[in-house]
Amino acid sequence: MSRTTVATVHLGALRHNLARVRALAGDAKVMAVVKADAYGHGLERVARALDGEAEAFAVAAIADGLRLRAAGHRQRIVVLSGPDTPSDIAEMQRLRLDALIHHDAQLPWLAKADPLRGPLRVWIKVDTGMHRLGFDPVRAREVHAALLAMPAIDRELGLMTHFASSEEFEGRETALQIARFREGTAGLAGPRALSNSAAVLGWPDARGDWVRTGGLLYGLSVVEGRSGADFGFRPAMTLATRLVAINRLVKGERVGYNGTYECPEDMNVGVAAIGYGDGYPRSATPGTPVLINGRAAPLVGRVSMDLITIDLRGVPDARTGDRVTLWGEGLPVETVAAAAGTISYDLTCGMTRRVLFVDDES
Ligand SMILES: *Cc1c(COP(=O)(O)O)cnc(C)c1O
Repeated sequence: MSRTTVATVHLGALRHNLARVRALAGDAKVMAVVKADAYGHGLERVARALDGEAEAFAVAAIADGLRLRAAGHRQRIVVLSGPDTPSDIAEMQRLRLDALIHHDAQLPWLAKADPLRGPLRVWIKVDTGMHRLGFDPVRAREVHAALLAMPAIDRELGLMTHFASSEEFEGRETALQIARFREGTAGLAGPRALSNSAAVLGWPDARGDWVRTGGLLYGLSVVEGRSGADFGFRPAMTLATRLVAINRLVKGERVGYNGTYECPEDMNVGVAAIGYGDGYPRSATPGTPVLINGRAAPLVGRVSMDLITIDLRGVPDARTGDRVTLWGEGLPVETVAAAAGTISYDLTCGMTRRVLFVDDES
């Protein structure tokens, strides 16, 4: 028998979420960020759902750009980490991928690019405080001029920066980054792209000409204490499995590896077919909720590779074979992530190959 753990991806939710991003983003174009296999939802499936809805896709690897072209997508595709080697340039021209330029080492590769292979579109990454990828604003201006003199580079150069803390709506770091970007790029021609998902929610000043949204498309929020649903987004993934056993245990008996949970009274403990081998986080703490028959029930004991154990005292009608929802509608993945000491993106990206993925239209 195949395993009963299933991740359902809701194509209607993806489209709803893109429309919601668009409503929040005003006139800005939308770059749908589909890196990391579309945050674990499946690159081809998500791209198919959003085809014709997003003006561009953004990926982290040329290989993902190749997959999108192979699936027939003709939109712009931006490679957010840029070319890594000189030979990447010709491949990006062949696939018509937009390159992101963030480091001096990349410039000689661009200067040598063959104009006969077609113009390469380039975005210049400006470091305004994240200190990960990007030129400082003074150098970015020089790079802008240098790129305009290169024969194979498209005349329209994009300007991009990335925020370190945009989910902190009250913090001052993002306002500083916006100001540094404005000042640093003043007078330079070209479209601007500043906002990730949290900035679309909290920093309308940063809208620019394009927004780069990942998380919100999947209904995911990284704003502390708030789920995507709190902002009008719908979860694009439901992760579910089934109860495979119900054990009647007596007071004082212990459950799972190392016996970390001791039954406080005689009680039913359910066993569900999911574990860290599927990508359910081993760090999920006791008390992390799952949904059974629409009711929340807490994890007890350790998450093991294939199984979890659940306190069924609040779900007396639970039976083996009942569906157990780990996250999705009615149980935000953000809640599970918080209980596991991480963010929602980490959980959806972490689904393993053993999980069966299915699409639905809702
Ligand atoms: C991943 C990424 C995004 C998308 O971030 P979300 O929080 O998922 O919207 C945008 N820009 C860059 C450069 C990224 O790496």
